[in-house]
Amino acid sequence: MLPHCGRCLLPKKNCVCAHLPSINAPFQVIIVRHKKSANKASNTAFVSSLCIPSLKIIDIDHPKEVEHKIQPSLGAMLLFPPVTSKPTADRTTIPSTLYVLDGSWKQARKMYRQNVILQMMPHLSLVPRAVPPPRILTPSSPQGMSTMEAISQSFSFFGFQEEADCIHDGLCSFIEQRRLVTGIQIPIPSGMSFSQVRKLGY
Ligand SMILES: [Zn+2]
Repeated sequence: MLPHCGRCLLPKKNCVCAHLPSINAPFQVIIVRHKKSANKASNTAFVSSLCIPSLKIIDIDHPKEVEHKIQPSLGAMLLFPPVTSKPTADRTTIPSTLYVLDGSWKQARKMYRQNVILQMMPHLSLVPRAVPPPRILTPSSPQGMSTMEAISQSFSFFGFQEEADCIHDGLCSFIEQRRLVTGIQIPIPSGMSFSQVRKLGY
């Protein structure tokens, strides 16, 4: 087996650490991650934590656990697709903490439905940047994003474009090295996923 970097966990010859930024996040980011996603090579929550030292990841086994592991706090916000009748974020109110649900869409929806504490928070809904980064997984909806991409867009939404761009660039570097590891022969075009490029015969 190839020697791996102990930090980014890629094979040493593909180590991306030198290309990952270390940024001061403009607000606390907490990723609530379903345990099943934790060890997947496609999980960008882990890479986000390398780029944002203050970022916290809470791993949960079961959706019901969320309520016990989250402390309600003033100014907390939830990153989630639009839900009718829920308060949505405006650009002038910067959250104290942004909660990001990580996992498949099915897992995220379950976490949401089973936890009033999440439903009570103001919701932040984002769209991808005009030229989105490549993606490891195909999003489940046209406006879907990876976790790290969504964090970058949340910084951009509140006016922290420099931090957003740093995270975006770090994500692109990581995806390029993962692409080399997986043996796909061409760089992944903007907004496309590994499986979409494989289907084209690369
Ligand atoms: Zn590394």
